Amino acid sequence: MKGTTDHITAVTGGVNDLALINAKNDSKNWLSYGQNYSEDRFSQLTEITSENVGTLGLKWSYDLNSTRGVEATPVVVDGIMYVTAPWSIVHAIDTRTGKQLWTYDPKVPRETGVKACCDVVNRGVALYQGRVFVASLDGRLISIDAATGTKIWEQVTLDTSKSYTITGAPRVFKGKVIIGNGGAEYGVRGYITAYDAETGEQAWRWYSVPGNPDQPFEQPELEMAAETWDPSGKYWELGGGGTMWDAMAYDPELNLMYVGVGNGSPWNRRLRSPGGGDNLFLSSIVALDPDNGSYKWHYQGTPGDHWDYTATQPLILADLEIEGAKRKVIMQAPKNGFFFVIDRTNGEFISAQNFVDVNWASGYDEKGRPMEITAAEYKSGSYEAIPGPNGAHNWHSMSFNPTTGLVYIPAQGIPIVIEDDPNWVANSIESGAFASGTGWNTGVLSSATPKKSATFGHLLAWDPVKKEAAWKVEHASPWNGGTLSTAGNLVFQGTAEGRFVAYNASTGEKLWEVQVGTGVIAAPITYEVDGQQFVSIAAGWGGSHGMSTNYSEYQTQGRVYTFALNEKAPMPELKLREASSILSGVAYDPQDIGLGTKLYITHCVICHGVPVLGKGGNIPNLGFSTKAKIENLKTFVLTDALKELGMPNFSGKLTEDEVTKIQAFIQATADAVKAQMEASK
Ligand code: CA
Repeated sequence: MKGTTDHITAVTGGVNDLALINAKNDSKNWLSYGQNYSEDRFSQLTEITSENVGTLGLKWSYDLNSTRGVEATPVVVDGIMYVTAPWSIVHAIDTRTGKQLWTYDPKVPRETGVKACCDVVNRGVALYQGRVFVASLDGRLISIDAATGTKIWEQVTLDTSKSYTITGAPRVFKGKVIIGNGGAEYGVRGYITAYDAETGEQAWRWYSVPGNPDQPFEQPELEMAAETWDPSGKYWELGGGGTMWDAMAYDPELNLMYVGVGNGSPWNRRLRSPGGGDNLFLSSIVALDPDNGSYKWHYQGTPGDHWDYTATQPLILADLEIEGAKRKVIMQAPKNGFFFVIDRTNGEFISAQNFVDVNWASGYDEKGRPMEITAAEYKSGSYEAIPGPNGAHNWHSMSFNPTTGLVYIPAQGIPIVIEDDPNWVANSIESGAFASGTGWNTGVLSSATPKKSATFGHLLAWDPVKKEAAWKVEHASPWNGGTLSTAGNLVFQGTAEGRFVAYNASTGEKLWEVQVGTGVIAAPITYEVDGQQFVSIAAGWGGSHGMSTNYSEYQTQGRVYTFALNEKAPMPELKLREASSILSGVAYDPQDIGLGTKLYITHCVICHGVPVLGKGGNIPNLGFSTKAKIENLKTFVLTDALKELGMPNFSGKLTEDEVTKIQAFIQATADAVKAQMEASK
């Protein structure tokens, strides 16, 4: 019987190298994060089409029992689904019934949350030979029996004394489970590690940036990389960054795996490498041999990254006809706002075209080097970098439809003005300043200068050959969900205000939508169960932008929704967010506001946002707290009272007196904003 442990053991046991290599032609299943090794998120299923998608209805919904960000793409084999919730909790679901088969909770220590720049999210699991692999936020790679949910082995992949975390989905290439990590906002050195899927034994590790030049280089190409860094900055003590926290892809014919490398740490390159240099392999696409992790080639899209321009964004492999020649390409639309087409056999640059407005580079020369705009260096005063550090496109999955020839990108603009941080101190990792995990250490201040550029979110259909947009749909806000495209001439995407929408893949015409309440950031999938095509989306608002900002009128509730033609199950009840009033009446000493502001920016703003103005995301905005809560702030800040929700205990990092100063900042800001609002009435 389907859904029994025998059935699950049999069908998950069949997910082997051959099945994964052939996944593109197996649209009945969704075997890996990006559907297949090319990670194109394209399905050949055609039961649901642009003609009949209007009759799509709810089959079932499943409560993930979470209120934080859900970034996971589920995987499905013969109707058995594996999806992750916040805090790296795995849920196994029988899609025939929508019922839980098992859950696995790695019990991530809640104090890990403060090391995670961008919410306690997880993007999903890998499935291989009867095992489910999840990487927990605190850095363990865990092998789980796919039929029972029992742990088989676990490996600590990180130096847990430093502010590393894992949010990405592992991939399995040739029997090896590959996982990277994040933490470049706090000062770590990026690496990626491969483990034997069967035993958990480490097979290889690849570092993206050089370590201490006085020590032997772990890999020969790091000697070349070290020549592009100025040692007077002691980058090895700062970490250097280059974390590989998300994108991977694999070409079995070329036997090359590809990984996207993140930003520099600190962001400010004048601090990281005072004499300049490209700082390899920051912000690059790198090709490695999956057998031993040896370096094959790289392409660096943002040499000497200065703006948090990670190149960890999704990678898609495709074969395109460009100027009359068939090219094996890799495509990426990273944070820096340019769409790249690179030859994936050798890393040769083919094209780069900006897909949104940008002001840091005027374009790329024929060798694939950006022509940087001098003012973007923010050497003399503040500069509004476009795109901002949230990127023109972030981790939100894009998809490629070989029939339309278009790539569907969740593009965006989230303005921010940056400048040198004059008080930045080059603390070493050993001193513990980075390891504390409280406060980002970027060497950059984001200022309150009025923004000139637009805040926007687009669903952008991009032609990678013509290097232009085919069509675009304007959304109400940035930070919308990933995309799925299908042979039914459809594109599916969830939005920040909680709609799940189907579009005509050729024209962008909206064909169907449903309100799922919570904002959607993850990407949908489609698969077939007993002859019926299903579409599933894991919804749950959050992630870096979503922690402090919300665009939905409903409460954040993590759920998996599954739709099919002519289904009519009732949608679950959506709860409206409570109307909240602005904090008032907390007594404070105005002299405390100055230091309180500094402390708030260092310790609080990333998650809680600016009081009142930030409005609140999946983490409360303190400008809407009750008077009693803020008066009692030290109980929440200096104890374990809210530990289970992920609120760190700041005792030892903040004193009672400093909490009083933070109180002053919160109440003073709430008063000021309220006065401003009343004056403008
Ligand atoms: Ca970053």
